[in-house]
Amino acid sequence: MGKVKYRYNPKTCKYEPWYLRGKALQDQAAIFIGLSFLLGGLFYFGYTRNFDSLEEQLLKKKNITLKVEWQILEDRIQAATADLNTLVERDDKNYRVILDSSPLAPEIREGGVGGSEKFSTEGLKDYPTVISDYAILEKLRSKVDVEVQSYKELNSILTERIEMWASRPAIQPINNKQLERLHMSYGARFHPIYHRYMEHKGLDFSAANGTPVYATGDGKVIMAHYSSSYGNVIYLNHEHDYETRYAHLSRFAVKEGDVVKRGHVIGYVGNTGTSVSDHLHYEVLFKGQHVNPINFFQRDLNNKEYERLIEAGSTDAKVLD
Ligand SMILES: [Zn+2]
Repeated sequence: MGKVKYRYNPKTCKYEPWYLRGKALQDQAAIFIGLSFLLGGLFYFGYTRNFDSLEEQLLKKKNITLKVEWQILEDRIQAATADLNTLVERDDKNYRVILDSSPLAPEIREGGVGGSEKFSTEGLKDYPTVISDYAILEKLRSKVDVEVQSYKELNSILTERIEMWASRPAIQPINNKQLERLHMSYGARFHPIYHRYMEHKGLDFSAANGTPVYATGDGKVIMAHYSSSYGNVIYLNHEHDYETRYAHLSRFAVKEGDVVKRGHVIGYVGNTGTSVSDHLHYEVLFKGQHVNPINFFQRDLNNKEYERLIEAGSTDAKVLD
């Protein structure tokens, strides 16, 4: 029960209960409703002005997360660009120099390989950072494509060079520890058996009978037979125009048709054919022409050892075949 209001009635000279009714009631109700609306409106205005809606709060939170992620993405793009630039520099200034290949032309690097879908900037006019980052990303992708192609090409060149280096007769056919003397006898010399000046187209390695003889490069045995001059001789055919010959062997360790690797034992030192002592006569041919084998050795001797092994000069050089 609400409080009952009393009013003084001059007619009855009494205080009597007073109730709103008629127009007064209507006026009071209108004032109350009007004030309620006014207060409600003020409250709503104040609230929306000073406090975000739940949806806005979520969007703001999401926006912060996106900004952080975008920054991380930008950092990654920068790091990837730096890594790529390092690879490009190594490609041009190291690998291609070592492999004797020209650096890629700048227009190839800048132009990319083409065929990619261009990024559409439609609807992103208000977001220049996004457009700019996508443009950087697009350029980076293009440069990566070029570099991938370049490394494939380098790999192909390298594989070819490795095969070529493996074929090259690059080591001595006799182990230095077992070598007694290397005779610098390439060129014309007086033959000890034919007793006349003849061209000596190889080097002679003095070593004990039975000393292993090694293939000096990867190749295939195209001949392993006895000849009256060379005695037991092996002909190896290497790729890339190289051929080697190993003469006066005591015996063979390979036969015709065998494929050998550099360092494989192919035979043993002997004194067969026109030879006056145990030694290996070794020849190298390039494009069918004899060349001095000394130019191909990867010397693993110091100068003193090298001098000791080589019987320098032609006048007192011992002639073996
Ligand atoms: Zn010889």
